[in-house]
Amino acid sequence: MENRFAGGCASCSVWVSAGGGFLGKGLEGGWEVRCATCQYVDERAAADDFDPEVIELPTVPPPGSATTVALRVLTLSRECWACGKDTVCLIGLYPQRPGRGFAGLFTTDNARTMALVRRLLQQHGHGPLAATVKSRYSRTMRERQLSNGCGHCDALQGNFPVHDEAMGRVAAGGVDGLDTLLIASCPVLEWQAIVHDNSGGVIAI
Ligand SMILES: [Zn+2]
Ligand SMILES: [Zn+2]
Repeated sequence: MENRFAGGCASCSVWVSAGGGFLGKGLEGGWEVRCATCQYVDERAAADDFDPEVIELPTVPPPGSATTVALRVLTLSRECWACGKDTVCLIGLYPQRPGRGFAGLFTTDNARTMALVRRLLQQHGHGPLAATVKSRYSRTMRERQLSNGCGHCDALQGNFPVHDEAMGRVAAGGVDGLDTLLIASCPVLEWQAIVHDNSGGVIAI
């Protein structure tokens, strides 16, 4: 059903103009807006030949969809295990205006999300903080991955302890349990590539 009123997409929170998306019943029974891109991805996901490793997004946002979305870049400050000073760790992304029915905090425990957070920081005047994120060897994971590093001594801030602490703060205080470093304007397709990535790193919220 066409949406008669403008609203934020329940899957990605991207703003959809009246008539530019779809309306459907959410899990809790209320009406939710879906953008054409998320509707398309979900229809593809129901097909027999769907490959969850391959995200099939359009190359341009469809008519009626906003072209950018405002995202909160979430961080937390914690003591570095190596030098003992407080350092900022990048935790994830959450829409500034979540659409009705939207339920995900997308964390940097996912390589794609970490790469997007780093790029958003570079584009929004946080170059020095972005530079603390590097490809480092993780002994736990036995591979190189983009990871948080100490702003003072460059030591790897392990994904497990950092995200364990983030989960605890979100469980206690929701999204506001984390620090909002900045509100970043992000091209919708880059954001939707994260929302429809199926390799983990999402906190239900
Ligand atoms: Zn959407
Ligand atoms: Zn340190």
